[in-house]
Amino acid sequence: MTATAVVGIGELVTCDGSGDSGLGLRTDAALVVDDGHVAWVGDAADVPDADHRIDLEGRAVLPGFVDSHSHLVFDGDRAAEFAARMTGERYDGGGIGVSVGATRAADDVRLRGLVGRRVVEMRAQGTTTVEIKGGYGLTVDDEARSLRIAREFTTETTFLGAHVVPPEARGDRAAYVELVTGPMLEACAPHARWADVFCEPNSAHAFTEDESRAVLTAARNAGLELRVHGNQLGPGPGVQIAVELGAASVDHCTFLSAADVAVLVDAADTTVATLLPGVEFSTRSPYPDARALIDAGVSVALASDCNPGTCYSSSMPFVIALAVREMGMTPGEAVWAATRGSAKALRRDDVGRITVGGPADLTVLDAPSHLHLAYRAGVPIASTLVTRSDGWVGSPRP
Ligand SMILES: [Zn+2]
Repeated sequence: MTATAVVGIGELVTCDGSGDSGLGLRTDAALVVDDGHVAWVGDAADVPDADHRIDLEGRAVLPGFVDSHSHLVFDGDRAAEFAARMTGERYDGGGIGVSVGATRAADDVRLRGLVGRRVVEMRAQGTTTVEIKGGYGLTVDDEARSLRIAREFTTETTFLGAHVVPPEARGDRAAYVELVTGPMLEACAPHARWADVFCEPNSAHAFTEDESRAVLTAARNAGLELRVHGNQLGPGPGVQIAVELGAASVDHCTFLSAADVAVLVDAADTTVATLLPGVEFSTRSPYPDARALIDAGVSVALASDCNPGTCYSSSMPFVIALAVREMGMTPGEAVWAATRGSAKALRRDDVGRITVGGPADLTVLDAPSHLHLAYRAGVPIASTLVTRSDGWVGSPRP
């Protein structure tokens, strides 16, 4: 075992639940990492002896970001669709078909390489836990292989056969739902922890209330835990279904009724509202009312939704900056939502906070405090402070 003392931490964000926004801020702190775990946290003056010593010279350290919503398994380029949208074309979920075609055509080696590069890109920006969905294969074999590949990078894999109805199935939606709830679910369940559905009656390509309930119920019966894409493009049943079926998270929550907010308040211990402001940015849409949700007592998380159509950004610092600038969250609330809040959306108690005995998933800022994440928007100040059992600590290895 080789222990490394990390000293000179100007601000340590522990997310232990105390103080402003629960951030548990400490100044002049130090910590010791041993065998990939946090072995000690305390005042710099009391740091115990260790084999190695890293001086961060006043930089801030945070729990690694938890990105609880991403779609990294895809091939194909949709930059032209983004450019068209910026000149006024409206997003309705139809462009997903472009990614489906390219993903089906990619071989395993290529697809694995694409996912791997995106994970490295996330890690370089301070993300240490990521959820990855399938959903661009939409056949039994292509969904199973998407999840097999995703599993090579994370345990938080999500079956999303009900992303859209694929073009070849548009004539018989019922048959496609039967495929998703039958053979596709059976092939994918061994590689997935979660199941998700794009519940969006406002898109002709997504799933209705009844279809969504059928997909989620079948997945739950197969032993998967649930998440829901809901209330993205307009008012809809997504929030109500998510709470009714005990989903860990309902994601987007852009168009909510007073009744939706009320059920999310009641379900704050089980169902998190995960906001994805990168999508509103990339589709030039109105942002969710984060301020109202937090003030009402809803459990709120932030995630990237990194995907080729509606937000091809993997940057949690960008998401935090948007949350502060566009959704009325304080910097502290945004950091909490991107760490502990997002861990809660994955029902993970070990990540999204810095605690003795917990994993050394640490992010360092080239700045003295977490305020700089929003203040210095667009500047790459966040990186993962990679910690390995060999005691090596530093910026991400190439
Ligand atoms: Zn999504």
